[in-house]
Amino acid sequence: MYPVRTCVGCRQRGNRSDLIRIANFQGNLSVDTEKKMPGRGSWIHKKTKCLETAVERKAFGRAFRGKADLEQVTDLVKQIEQAEMMLEI
Ligand SMILES: [Zn+2]
Repeated sequence: MYPVRTCVGCRQRGNRSDLIRIANFQGNLSVDTEKKMPGRGSWIHKKTKCLETAVERKAFGRAFRGKADLEQVTDLVKQIEQAEMMLEI
């Protein structure tokens, strides 16, 4: 009954509402709070660990060139936290 998505970090399945959609639009990653941004989307838990794992296995595709860019991940985590706050209003 519940829409289920697989986390690109830990590979565990989760309820759609427990996962964040990361849109990869023209090489830029951003948190898709409306869950309908253009471009390829990746679903991931709201956990730094999952984001780091996803970066390590290049789950976000070409958005990260070469090795993992933890700075970009940190930015994403901040975006997620801000999105969370907006959702709670
Ligand atoms: Zn996960």
